[in-house]
Amino acid sequence: GAPVSTVTGIGNGARNGVLIKGGETMDRLAKVDKIIFDKTGTLTEGKPSVEDIHVIDKSYTEQDLLHLAATVEQISEHHLGKTIVAEAKKQGLTKLEKITEGTVRKGLGVEGMLDGQKIIVGNRALMKESHVDVSDVLLQAVTKKEAKGKTVVFIAIDGKLVGSLSIFDKIRVDAKDAIAKLRAYGVEEIVMLTGDNKLTAKSVGTELGLDQVYAELLPEDKLSYVKKWQADGQIVLMAGDGINDAPSIATADVGVAMGEGGTDISMETADVVLMADKLDQLAHAFALAKATTKNVK
Ligand code: ADP
Ligand code: MG
Repeated sequence: GAPVSTVTGIGNGARNGVLIKGGETMDRLAKVDKIIFDKTGTLTEGKPSVEDIHVIDKSYTEQDLLHLAATVEQISEHHLGKTIVAEAKKQGLTKLEKITEGTVRKGLGVEGMLDGQKIIVGNRALMKESHVDVSDVLLQAVTKKEAKGKTVVFIAIDGKLVGSLSIFDKIRVDAKDAIAKLRAYGVEEIVMLTGDNKLTAKSVGTELGLDQVYAELLPEDKLSYVKKWQADGQIVLMAGDGINDAPSIATADVGVAMGEGGTDISMETADVVLMADKLDQLAHAFALAKATTKNVK
C-alpha cells in the first residue's frame, strides 16, 4: 500500500477540493519539471461573452449574423459555439432552424448547409482552408481585438466573408497567484498550448508571465508537444478542460482536469481533478506532494 503520509496528503487534498488519484501521482507531482496549461477553460474561465459583431456585407444586420452563426453553432460543444448560441437566445432568437451536412471542425470551427447555402463559422485557418478571402483592412481591425485577448470568429456564406464576432473570455482570477506559487514550489517551466490565434494567446501569456506560448494548435499538435517534451526527458504535467486536449491529459506524466467545466472523459483519464476549477487547488496539490515526498524520504 501507499505510505501513510501519502494517504494523509490525498485526504488533505480531497478536503481542499483537489482529487489526487493514487500514491504514485503524488510522487510524480513532486518531480514535475514542466507545467503545460491549455488556455480556454483552463487559464481562462471558459465562460466567454460576445463583445461585438462586425458586419462586412451590409445586406446583413448584426442580428442576422448572430442568427446565422448560432444556427450553425447549434451542433458545437465548444465554449465558443455555446456562447454564440446563448447570445442569440438572449437576443430573442429562440427558434433556430436546423442545418444539414453539419460538420464540427475541431480546433477550427463549424460548417453546414442552410437554405442551399454553405455557411462556415470559425477562425482564420478555417477561412483560409475554405478559400475565403479575409481582407487586409479587416485583418487590421481583427488584430487590434486579438491583441486585447479577444477571439475573432469569422462567418462566411458560399465562400464570401460576411462578418465576424469578437468574443472575450476572462483570465481566471486566481491564475496569476497560482502560477507564482507553482514557481515557488520549484516548477522550472510553465507554458501554454492553445488552438486560439497567436495574438490572443500572447496577450494571455504576457498577462500571466508564462515562459512560452504555443498557439494555433490542433488537438494532435498539443499531444505531439507533450510527447516531444517527455522524449526530451522532462516530467510533464498537462492541465486542461478536456475540450480538444483529453489525449494530452491522458498522455502527460500528470494529467490534470477541471472538475466543473471539464469533460467527463478528461476527468476519467486525469490523475488530478480540480473539483471547483480553481487553479489554486493545483498549487495546493504541489504543496502536498512536496511535503509528503519529503516525509517518505
Ligand atoms: P483552446 O486550445 O484555447 O482550448 P480550441 O482548440 O478548442 O482552443 O479551439 C481553437 C480555435 O478554433 C478557437 O480559438 C477558435 O478560433 C476555433 N474554433 C474552435 N471551435 C469553434 C467553434 N465552434 N466556433 C468557432 N470557432 C471555433
Ligand atoms: Mg480548452
